[in-house]
Amino acid sequence: MITQISSHTPMMQQYLRIKAEYPDLLVLYRMGDFYELFFDDAEKAAKLLSITLTARGKSAGQPIPMAGVPFHAIERYLAKLVKLGESVAICEQIGDPATSKGPVERAVTRLVTPGTVSDEALLDESQDNLIVAMHHQKNLYGIAALDITSGRFQVQEVNDENAMFSELERLKPAELLLSDELDHPLLQKRAGTKKRPPWEFEYETAERLLLTQFKTRDLSGFGIEKLPVAIAAAGCLLQYVQNTQRTALPHISSIRAEQRSDTVILDAISQRNLEIVTNLQGTQEHTLISVFDRTATPMGGRLIRRWFLRPLRNHDALIARQQAIADFLAQQLYAEVHELLRGIGDIERILARVALRSARPRDLLQLRYAFAMLPSLQRLLLNLDSFRINKIKDDLNSFDDLKGLLTNAIIENPPVVIRDGGVVADGYDSELDELRGISANAGEYLLALEAREKERSGIATLKVGYNRVHGYFIEVSRTQAKQVPIDYIRRQTLKNAERYITPELKEFEDKALSAKAKALAREKMLYEQLLNKLAEQLQPLQVCAAALAELDVLTNLAERAHSLQLVCPELANTTGIEIIGGKHPVIEQAIDEPFVPNNTHLHDARRMLIITGPNMGGKSTYMRQTALIVLLAYVGSFVPATSAKIGPIDRIFTRIGAADDLASGRSTFMVEMTETANILHNATTNSLVLMDEIGRGTSTFDGLSLAWACAAHLAKSVQALTLFATHYFELTLLPESFQNIENVHLDAIEHDDKIIFMHAVSEGPANQSYGLQVAQLAGVPDHVIKQARHKLQELEDHAVHSPQLLNISPQQPDLFVINDEPHPALEQLKQIDTNAITPLDALKLLAEIKKTL
Ligand code: ADP
Ligand code: MG
Repeated sequence: MITQISSHTPMMQQYLRIKAEYPDLLVLYRMGDFYELFFDDAEKAAKLLSITLTARGKSAGQPIPMAGVPFHAIERYLAKLVKLGESVAICEQIGDPATSKGPVERAVTRLVTPGTVSDEALLDESQDNLIVAMHHQKNLYGIAALDITSGRFQVQEVNDENAMFSELERLKPAELLLSDELDHPLLQKRAGTKKRPPWEFEYETAERLLLTQFKTRDLSGFGIEKLPVAIAAAGCLLQYVQNTQRTALPHISSIRAEQRSDTVILDAISQRNLEIVTNLQGTQEHTLISVFDRTATPMGGRLIRRWFLRPLRNHDALIARQQAIADFLAQQLYAEVHELLRGIGDIERILARVALRSARPRDLLQLRYAFAMLPSLQRLLLNLDSFRINKIKDDLNSFDDLKGLLTNAIIENPPVVIRDGGVVADGYDSELDELRGISANAGEYLLALEAREKERSGIATLKVGYNRVHGYFIEVSRTQAKQVPIDYIRRQTLKNAERYITPELKEFEDKALSAKAKALAREKMLYEQLLNKLAEQLQPLQVCAAALAELDVLTNLAERAHSLQLVCPELANTTGIEIIGGKHPVIEQAIDEPFVPNNTHLHDARRMLIITGPNMGGKSTYMRQTALIVLLAYVGSFVPATSAKIGPIDRIFTRIGAADDLASGRSTFMVEMTETANILHNATTNSLVLMDEIGRGTSTFDGLSLAWACAAHLAKSVQALTLFATHYFELTLLPESFQNIENVHLDAIEHDDKIIFMHAVSEGPANQSYGLQVAQLAGVPDHVIKQARHKLQELEDHAVHSPQLLNISPQQPDLFVINDEPHPALEQLKQIDTNAITPLDALKLLAEIKKTL
C-alpha cells in the first residue's frame, strides 16, 4: 500500500484520500447497496464482524482486500463495532450518480465512536456510556468524564495509580483518551483506548474551549479552578467530542468536580469482589444490583448503578434519602408512583438527542407522554413532605406549553424518521396544510380531468395515470392514438399504448410535484423549529429528567425495603459496626434453604475478627454480607438486618485469596501481594477491610507468615475494622497478643458420617478443621483420606503452635522466624537490609524474592 496514489483507479484514489483523513477509524465507504471496507480495515472488520473477506479487482496491480455490509443492516453492525470499542467513519455518496463523471462524490457524513454515540439503537439503556480523557502531570492523574447522552460532565484529580484504576473501574469508559505519557500496559489494553497528542492537553486551550462551551467568563463558578490537570483532560475531551459530533452541544452546559473524599471509596478490586454491578464472571447474575434494581425507567436504572458504585460519606445526604424512602413506605405510595414512571421512558437520553438535533419523531412522542404524566405524579407526591421529595417536586416542574405544542405538532403514530415526512399533524401549520391539500386533492381533480378528456376525445378507454419517471400522463391504446386531440403531446410510447401530456395536465403536474416537495421541506423546517423550541427549555427539562430518575430510584428502594423486609440503618458518628441479624442480600435470594442471620460487632476494642471454620462453613458469606450491608447503608438504602448501627466508613477494601479468586488468570502470588500492600498502605481506622484467606497463593510457611504479618499490622498500626477469614489455624492465637483482635468461628456438626454446616457465627476459635470430611463427602476415595489423615497427624506433631515462634514486630528485624529457624526467603531478605525494615517493606521484598525463586 505504499504505492503511489496515482497508480490506483479513480475510485480507489477517492477512497484513499478519504481514508487518509481517518487513519484510526474504520471507514465504511458507500457503494450502491453496500458499505465497503478496504485493505487493513477490511481485514479487521472481517474478523470483528465475522463477515467474508473478499478482494476487489485490482488497483495498483494488487487485489484489494474488501469486506462489506448491506446498507440496511448498518445500525446492527455499528452497534457491534462500537461495543468492541471501534470507531467508525461513514462515508456516503453525496453526488448524483446520473450526472457524475468518474466516481460519485463522497464524503464522511457521520463519525460513530464508542463514547460519543447517542442513537438509541447503539446504546445499552441500562448503562452509562462515558467518554473519559486522562492526563498525567506532576504526579497527578486528571480525569474528565462526559456522558454525552445526558450532558453530565465531571472532572477530578487523583494522586496515585490505585485511585486512578479504581475510578476507571467505576466509570467503565466506553472510550478512553490518553495523553502520551500514560503508557501503562493495563490502560493500553482496554478496548476503546486512544492516544491523543500532547497539544490537545494544553491548559490554556482547554480553558478557552470550556469557557466558550459554557458561555462564561471564568471557571470559578464550577469549583474546578484548582484542578489544572483535570481541566487539561476536559479540554481534550471536549475538542474530541466537538469533532465527532460536528454540531453544537447545548446540553453540556456545566462541569462539576467530583471529590473522592465525598465517597466511601471502593478500589477497583473491591468493586469487582463485592459483585455490585457485575459478578466475577462478568455477567449481571447474582449481583447486588440484580437484587436491588427494580427501576421503572432506564435513566433510573443508570442512576441506581451510579449510586451503588459511589456510596456517599455525608450522613445528611444519606439521611435525606432514608427519609424519602420511609415516607414512601409510610404512605404506601411507591407502587403507584412506579406505575406512572413506567410510562415516562428514557427522557434523559431523548433530551440529549434534542440538543444534538438528532431526536426522532417517536422521541418527541415519548416526551409528550412524559409531560402528560407530570401532573398525576405531582398529585401523588402532594402529601409527601421530606427534604428530597420536596426538591424533586420543585424540579419536576410542569411543561404544559410544550405538551400542548407536541400534541398539536406530531401525529399519533409517526414514522421512525422524518425523511419522508408524514410526521407533522394536520392543523398545526396552515401553509403545510395548503401544500398537502394540493397533492391530496389531486385524486379528485384527476378523475374530473379524465372524465372531461374522455368526452372531448371520444375515447372511452382513455386513462389518466402517474409514474415516477415520466410524471402524469394520459394513456390511450395504440389503435386509438390517431383520435387524440391536437393539443396532446406525446410523452412515452409503450408496446400497446401511447402516453400524452396536455398543457393543463402539465400545469397541474408542476403544481402538485412542487407542492409535495415544498410540503416535505416545510415539514422538515417545522420539525427543526420544534426541536429548537424544546431546546430553549433544555435546562429545566434536564433538571426534570434528573428528578424523575431520582424519584424512580427512591421509590425502587422503598419497594425493595418492603419486599425484602429491610430496616433503616442508623448512621452513627462513632467508629464501629453493629449489625444484628444481618443477611447476605444476594445469597439469601439464591439459596433454597432459609438463610441463617448473623451479627457483626466491631468497635474500638474489637477491631478485628479472625474468622475460622470449615470450608463451606459460611466465612466468605459472612464477611461479604457485612461489607454489603455497610455499602447499602452508605447508598442511603435500607439494609437486610434486624437492626444496624454503622459509624463513619471511608473505604471498603477486600482481598480474596487466590483459591477464591474466580477472575481467572490473576491468581498469582504477586497480584495478591500488590493488593495486600495497597490495603496496608491506604486503610485507616475508619476503613472496613475484608481479608479472605490470604496467603493461599504461596507455600504454607510463606502464606502463614504473611497472613500473620498482615493481621498484626492491620490490628496494631492501621487499626482498621477488619474481618479476617483464614484457614491458618495458628492465627487464632493472635488475640493473645493483641487486645483488639477477637476470634469468631463457624461450626459444622458431624451427623451420621455427614457434615452439617450451621452457618451461625459464634465467638471463639473453631475447634476442628473439617477439610478431610468435606473431601470425603465430595467423593475422594477412602484410602486417600486415610493417608491424608496420617500425614495431617505428622504435620500437626511438628507444627508451629506458639505466637512467639512467629515473632513479628516492626521493631524487630527477625521478621518471620519459624521454630527459631529463619525462613529461607527471609535469609535473603535479611541480607538486603537487616536494620530498618517494616512489615510492609518485608512483604514487598518477599514478594519480589518470590518472583525470582
Ligand atoms: P466458606 O467461605 O467458609 O468456605 P462460604 O461463605 O463460601 O463458605 O459459604 C458456602 C455456602 O454456604 C454458601 O454458598 C451458601 O450457600 C451457604 N451459606 C453460607 N452462609 C450461609 C448462611 N448464613 N445461611 C445459609 N446458608 C449459608
Ligand atoms: Mg470462603
